Amino acid sequence: MSITCYLLSPRGFCSGVTRAANMAEQVLRLYKTVYSIEDVIHNKVFVDSLCSQGFVKVESIDDIPDGSAIMFSAHGVSPRMLNIAEDKGLTIIDGTCPIVKSIQQGFVKAIESGSKAIIIGNRSHAEIIALLGYARDSEVYVVYNEMDIDMLPSFDNLEVTYFTQTTLDCDYAKKIIDKLKEKIPHIKSTSQDNICTATKMRQDAVKKMAGDVDLVIIVGSSYSSNAKRLCEVAESAGAKKVIRIDSKNELNDSDFNGITSLAISSAASTPESIVQDLVAFIESKYDLDIKDFADTKNDN
Ligand code: SF4
Repeated sequence: MSITCYLLSPRGFCSGVTRAANMAEQVLRLYKTVYSIEDVIHNKVFVDSLCSQGFVKVESIDDIPDGSAIMFSAHGVSPRMLNIAEDKGLTIIDGTCPIVKSIQQGFVKAIESGSKAIIIGNRSHAEIIALLGYARDSEVYVVYNEMDIDMLPSFDNLEVTYFTQTTLDCDYAKKIIDKLKEKIPHIKSTSQDNICTATKMRQDAVKKMAGDVDLVIIVGSSYSSNAKRLCEVAESAGAKKVIRIDSKNELNDSDFNGITSLAISSAASTPESIVQDLVAFIESKYDLDIKDFADTKNDN
């Protein structure tokens, strides 16, 4: 059976994940054991590999022996956690993505100037948990959907600034921002949204191609916000069938029943080697015509 396979670009690690992954690998050369509370990047295969080399995941910072090494994830870390780590004499490896860090700085600046803050995002996601850690005693609200916006108090005569999680679906975020602006016309932002370009570009390529193929495969972990959003974007763009897998091992022969074309994309935390393994695996079973696809409006 012949299948046309579109490999969507960009794929593989974004800059923030590349940085954190490199830091993790470097620190393993210096320390036999490195502790982490949150996965340093949201990819199971990569994190399992780190754990087999000396990373140890713990529930709480209290579980880490004083004087050890700790790595914080690309999603950021709260100042409180940093202080505790310092007090315990831990060697700190801060994997926070520079883009996430600059959003944290903008957030601190806004609340220090007296603004209320509204964060659009998932309050249980590591990035939002870390960001909330910078709120101190300020009034900060987290909204995820239109219902949350309806529940917000009135901000008449008060300065309000909104921030967005970096990995939201761009169209969804726009809908929520529009609704926020309806309710709070004077709301400000530090930028139009904080959705990272790496996230936007992946979503744009998936959106362009999803409706034209029989199957979309998103390579990424179930707890990767980025991977989840790519699946949602593919579905909204009219994809007939979407599957998310961590690696080729999760594929079934039945996934390819009646498939003559497919598109493959990956989350910003998925190592490109996993995608290449997947393509080689599919190629070993089917006659694959591989084509590269990038959304040209993102070429710059
Ligand atoms: S998706 Fe963007 S914000 Fe998130 S780690 Fe990657 S570069 Fe940083």
